[in-house]
Amino acid sequence: MQVDVLSAKELKSSGPVFGQLSFDDHEQVVFCNDKDTGLKAIIGIHNTVLGPALGGTRMWKYNSEWEALNDVLRLSRGMTYKSAITGLNLGGGKAVLIGDAKTEKTPQLMRRFGEFVHSLSGKYITAEDVGMDTEDMDIVREVTPYVTGISESKGGAGNPSPITAYGVFMGMKAAAKYKFGSDDLDGKKVLVQGIGHVGESLVEHLSNEGAQVFIADINPARLEEISKKYSASIYNDDVYAAPVDIYAPCALGATINDDTINKLKASIIAGAANNQLADEKVHGKLLQERGILYAPDFLINAGGIINVYAELEGYDRKEIMRKTENIYHTTLEILKTAEDKNIPTHYAALQIAQQRIDDRKKENFR
Ligand code: NAD
Repeated sequence: MQVDVLSAKELKSSGPVFGQLSFDDHEQVVFCNDKDTGLKAIIGIHNTVLGPALGGTRMWKYNSEWEALNDVLRLSRGMTYKSAITGLNLGGGKAVLIGDAKTEKTPQLMRRFGEFVHSLSGKYITAEDVGMDTEDMDIVREVTPYVTGISESKGGAGNPSPITAYGVFMGMKAAAKYKFGSDDLDGKKVLVQGIGHVGESLVEHLSNEGAQVFIADINPARLEEISKKYSASIYNDDVYAAPVDIYAPCALGATINDDTINKLKASIIAGAANNQLADEKVHGKLLQERGILYAPDFLINAGGIINVYAELEGYDRKEIMRKTENIYHTTLEILKTAEDKNIPTHYAALQIAQQRIDDRKKENFR
């Protein structure tokens, strides 16, 4: 066995864990390791003031463990604000599994991950995210009750992605109303980047509304399939420079960054991906200056969390749809607040979410 021991100099240069750029006063970060199944996971619990930290599990082939840590820190923080702005009594958490979901995910690994989730006694509740399916959550359910997004046949609310897509569609329509004066997307050019679980459902809503839909994905077979199914055009050129009205990021985060921001021609950004702004301090402001209306991701992609919250609270489909439709009104309010205060739209959303957390904290201390 070889043990790598870092020298004092190396330890110093690797920087403090609590000083990680993405560390934002997270309550707890749990590293899970199991040699037998090959499990390497990190669970990030950002904040539990409003309730247990709920957020999906992502499996991804990260280039490094630091990249995985950075992702889970950013994603779990995003969940705190997503639940807060949506009015749910949930905190923010997320988990990442390091590995290729297509080749390294096994039932044994998922069960072992479930045991780690269980060891947190409900402080963190998991669900599905990129690289996960409802069936994976069913396996986790075998060893812990602290999981949502399980199959309908097993008492769950089922796949959250169609609800997420519907919420994104509502947020997009609200942004169109604000920017173009009408929420009718008929004839509008919309580019959907990433046509996975959520992206496909969004394409369906857009096609039904008569939008001119363009699609981009790294999976050519998927592009062919979705293009045929919904008569969407495959976009092969640089996605960021596409001459469209609306850009809908539905793949991974951080696509609004130093390299892409100046190329954007779209008037609106509204999509499902989490953490679309690579650096929210910089890129939110730049979008505002460029007059590109950004519908904050954590606000409009909350349909999925509304769906899984129903599993915990026991409310029905009608209530899920009502809460998801409400994303339209919340988005309009946030866009107006941002304009009135002359601040980037995601700051307006963050301020309202933070206020709700602070108010609850005060109540709890009374
Ligand atoms: P998914 O894994 O089903 O789909 C992702 C798609 O993006 C895949 O088709 C993949 O090939 C494609 N992709 C990956 N990298 C790409 C790239 N560089 N360029 C173009 N395409 C690329 O995931 P999903 O469940 O549809 O989720 C999509 C996004 O929405 C994720 O960021 C996820 O965190 C977020 N989100 C999902 C939900 C949900 O309910 N599923 C809820 C909230 C947020």
